[in-house]
Amino acid sequence: MTAPSGVSAPAPHEHSEVRMAYVITQNCCNDASCVAACPVDCIHPTPGEVGFATTDMLYIDPATCIDCGACADVCPVDAIRPDTELTSTMAPYREINASYYAEHPPSPALTPGATPAPLVTSATPLRVALVGSGPAAFYCATELLDHPGVHVTMFERLPAPYGLIRHGVAPDHPATKAITSRFRLSPDKARRFRLHLDTEIGTDLGRDDLLLDHHAVIYAHGAFLPRRLDIPGSNLPGCLPAGAFVGWYNDHPDHRDLDPSLHTGRRVAIVGNGNVALDAARILVSEPESLAETTIAPSALDALRNSTVDEVVVLGRRGPEDAAFTAPELLALIQSPDFDVEVDPAALPEDPSHLNDPRARRKIDLLTEIAGRPTTAGHKRIRLLFHTRPTEILGTSCTTGIRVRTASGETTFDTSLVLYSIGFTGTPIDGLPFDRATGTIPHRNGRVTDHTTDRPVAGIYTAGWAKRGATGVIGTNRTCAQETVDCLLADHAAGRLPIPRSQRPRAGL
Ligand code: NAP
Repeated sequence: MTAPSGVSAPAPHEHSEVRMAYVITQNCCNDASCVAACPVDCIHPTPGEVGFATTDMLYIDPATCIDCGACADVCPVDAIRPDTELTSTMAPYREINASYYAEHPPSPALTPGATPAPLVTSATPLRVALVGSGPAAFYCATELLDHPGVHVTMFERLPAPYGLIRHGVAPDHPATKAITSRFRLSPDKARRFRLHLDTEIGTDLGRDDLLLDHHAVIYAHGAFLPRRLDIPGSNLPGCLPAGAFVGWYNDHPDHRDLDPSLHTGRRVAIVGNGNVALDAARILVSEPESLAETTIAPSALDALRNSTVDEVVVLGRRGPEDAAFTAPELLALIQSPDFDVEVDPAALPEDPSHLNDPRARRKIDLLTEIAGRPTTAGHKRIRLLFHTRPTEILGTSCTTGIRVRTASGETTFDTSLVLYSIGFTGTPIDGLPFDRATGTIPHRNGRVTDHTTDRPVAGIYTAGWAKRGATGVIGTNRTCAQETVDCLLADHAAGRLPIPRSQRPRAGL
């Protein structure tokens, strides 16, 4: 956090006069390109700090920023703005950035990562297969292709690339979707890159097929199996995983025919209160015409135009301080003019100052502000409920309601559509090691490990949600991918990768 010699920076943490030059705002994707670009180390937490793994976003220290704009130039989602250009919806981020430094003790550094591997040159060509084409796979590809001797072949099950960015990020978040621009390749890199669509690894091709022509395989195919809602009635029609609903409005080929019931009742209940729940709730009550200009699937837009839904209840089983949504997503939700967000003040702690986690305090501050807001007659609404645990989906042949247990007893909500948004898990693939307890591929720093010997499996790696579970935001995958690629390149340099079978001398020759 010190300025290099020759750069005069003010003393850190003088916040009485906030001199903010650049501010990180809602779209922050945690990709940390800005951290590397900053000449005065004023963006935190960095990928080397412990807080990075769990932070909602990154923050610029107003006391150290020298107003150079280098961070804004490299931000892939246009989240960094000069102070003077903040819109009214971005203005709260001025204080949010500053208060991070007021609240946070310096975060201890993580153990240093692997020593950077030597550049792989064309004299020692290295062929890597990548399974999946979402953010983790593309971050791996861009890291690898920085080495002139690396060739990458990417395999995608679907007919179009970008995985979670295309089919998971909400259509009204175009800046986040624009992160694909970061994955554009220069002509030299494009020459060393191949993308095979409509090709499922484990079904169309197996691991041995990939190792025929490649030295290594990185499995970065995500974790998209919805966690099961294990309560009576959850198999009834009308009780759906939120991931399928998200896929439906994002035109995912697996979910185009979903047909959620939006015109038989006025209420939708969502179980769980993570960012996926907030995305689904927002889409359900946004003005369809405000979605018409987005990439939303046309059939979903038609269904939303005919929807009778005017209330979404979001059911959090724990208290507001433990809500799974992030503060930036909550802030974005309450800035929409299309609907009200309602919170019962009685559900909030009177004095949040006892909370140790500044992220929890920020959520409580925001929820307290929401609880004090007037509502608008005739507006659609999202109600955020806490300490509300689902116990049964009601109905005989289809969903008619949901029973919940609250601090004051049991109650029911009438609804013909329950979305359970309780996270995702991975699926086993192609004889690859798989840890059923965590729904992930067992690994050490991205090197896949054998479950019986706990030793790395030569040439096999993993990255993204397949590696660490369904956590983090899009940019979290960059650091995750770097760790995996560093290990792969170190193994290449040490001669630990298998020679592709097609390159091995044939017996008898
Ligand atoms: P999530 O953040 O893990 O939230 C899961 C929610 O389900 C939590 O509220 C959890 O409650 C609840 N839950 C789990 N099991 C339950 C059960 N049996 N009964 C009732 N509630 C249950 O999952 P997510 O929303 O699917 O998000 C996945 C990841 O994608 C997250 O890292 C998220 O931040 C990210 N994402 C980011 C964005 C964005 O940045 N715009 C958008 C979408 C997703 P407990 O907390 O009590 O366990």
